[in-house]
Amino acid sequence: MPAGFPDFRLGSVLATSFTATLTERRGDAVERIPTPQRLVDWLAVNGLAVESCTTTQLELARDLRESIHAAATAAATQDPLPASAVRTINECSIRGRAAAVLTPEGNRRWQLGSASGVEDALGVIAADAISIIAGERDGKLALCASPTCRAAFFDTSQSRTRRWCDMNTCGNRQKKARFNANQRKSAGSF
Ligand SMILES: [Zn+2]
Repeated sequence: MPAGFPDFRLGSVLATSFTATLTERRGDAVERIPTPQRLVDWLAVNGLAVESCTTTQLELARDLRESIHAAATAAATQDPLPASAVRTINECSIRGRAAAVLTPEGNRRWQLGSASGVEDALGVIAADAISIIAGERDGKLALCASPTCRAAFFDTSQSRTRRWCDMNTCGNRQKKARFNANQRKSAGSF
């Protein structure tokens, strides 16, 4: 990882891993794909390697990201989906020309078209978002309980009661905050 750039928050669901490239949206937001090269790096980590990325393509990617975030948030709170977000997700899905191919080992690999790699990769991400927002997959969209985060995540836990987008970050922070509050409370009671 090049020094000076925030690391990636990777999860098992492509679309919500992608929305997690901007974290702490309600606090001090952290942009994890601040440059076109960082988007290239993120895509490579997620099995969508592209050769290059322009500033315009990075803007398109962020536009898709915020559209997925808006639509997933609406789905989690059972509000109507914002029309502009739906339009952007659909446009990206339609424009992408990636094909799923089966490797000899029996794994799925995405084969991107030649000239428009980033658009093809965004198409795969948009289609992944569509499948979770449409309720096609086993799981439920929910919002992180952290007030500074409020990320939309895909809860695949058996009981569907996961509270935080990421146990290692938001979950730990909340637990620590609660612990400190309890310490203060018991200190005050002496
Ligand atoms: Zn969170």
